[in-house]
Amino acid sequence: MSDGFETRAIHAGQDPDPVTGAVVTPISLSTTFAQAGVGDHRGYEYARTSNPTRQALETCVASLEGARHGFAFASGMAAEDTVLRALTGPDTNVLLPLDAYGGTFRLVARVLADTGGLHWSAGDLTSPATLGDAWRDETAVVWLETPTNPLLSCIDIAAIAAVAHERGAKVVVDNTFATPYLQRPLEFGADVVVHSTTKYIGGHSDVVGGFVAVADDELAERVRFLQNAVGAVPSPFDCYLILRGVKTLAVRMDRHCHSARAVAALLHEHPAVARVLYPGLAAHPGHDAARRQMRDFGGMVSFLARGGEEAALAMVSATRLFTLGESLGAVESLIEHPARMTHASVAGSPLAVDPALVRLSVGLETLDDLLEDLRAALDQGA
Ligand SMILES: *Cc1c(COP(=O)(O)O)cnc(C)c1O
Repeated sequence: MSDGFETRAIHAGQDPDPVTGAVVTPISLSTTFAQAGVGDHRGYEYARTSNPTRQALETCVASLEGARHGFAFASGMAAEDTVLRALTGPDTNVLLPLDAYGGTFRLVARVLADTGGLHWSAGDLTSPATLGDAWRDETAVVWLETPTNPLLSCIDIAAIAAVAHERGAKVVVDNTFATPYLQRPLEFGADVVVHSTTKYIGGHSDVVGGFVAVADDELAERVRFLQNAVGAVPSPFDCYLILRGVKTLAVRMDRHCHSARAVAALLHEHPAVARVLYPGLAAHPGHDAARRQMRDFGGMVSFLARGGEEAALAMVSATRLFTLGESLGAVESLIEHPARMTHASVAGSPLAVDPALVRLSVGLETLDDLLEDLRAALDQGA
């Protein structure tokens, strides 16, 4: 029997140091490693290619995703860039969901399309039936987020993977919002999982990182080649911080989910709120897909202010504990206005977001304090 999730989060790739017995994986700063003879080394030559702290992180998160191979990067965007380089070329098409992370859209539409000849299309991926509208003959990659950022739409990974594979495309899932604790896309047929480990996996708003998990050996070799050739790798200290975050991922996610559910219920009842977007609500269009593929519904909650953009802007400035800021997934609660902040880069594109939208990252503070803080801010906007 293989070890459970929490056990692997704490032990996979993290055996006590064979020399000193240290139970915490050392921050291995050496950039070069002694060789006994030419090419005769212990698996490490030069630290961009691999180093022991990064190796521990890669082994651990790959294990949590149920992947044979894992690769750590300097940021989520660096991970995405490497995956797209591995899977696409000039005149291939990437099919994006209508509410992809703004940075993903920017990378595809403003960088790779301009410099690498990549094409893109965007479609409603919440149903395999509507996938066809955005399909192009040269589609090489279907890029999914589920739940999506910031609308928290849920996409049926298995259904999309079946269609994409039948048509010869690979499926990449950005699993940043769910984390491997709540959802493991490879089990549902995805080919690649990417993460911004800056968010829940790091979990403490103190490190930027990215991750790629791959099941297929051949594709993993291509990612390994690019990781070294392009070199967007994390420092050993960053790897240490992310690995430290991973150890408590399961307990943190349980509390994030519990508190987010209570926040969604409060918002649902409040007259200043026109609509709550949270996959845990039975009325949410993605509720069934989320139930099929997720352990719980996550810590992110979005809502539309009844008073439109003006009310939304007033609310995001009125909270005391929910700090107005970008990012998500850490111990402290955050509130933000996607149209002007995280998703400003998609303004005017098919992915533009409603200016009445407010996004919450529900943190780990005392739940009653969080509810009181929100209630007070919403009362102002009612
Ligand atoms: C933050 C984020 C990214 C980008 O990751 P960075 O670590 O900021 O480069 C990608 N996808 C999602 C869903 C994100 O939230």
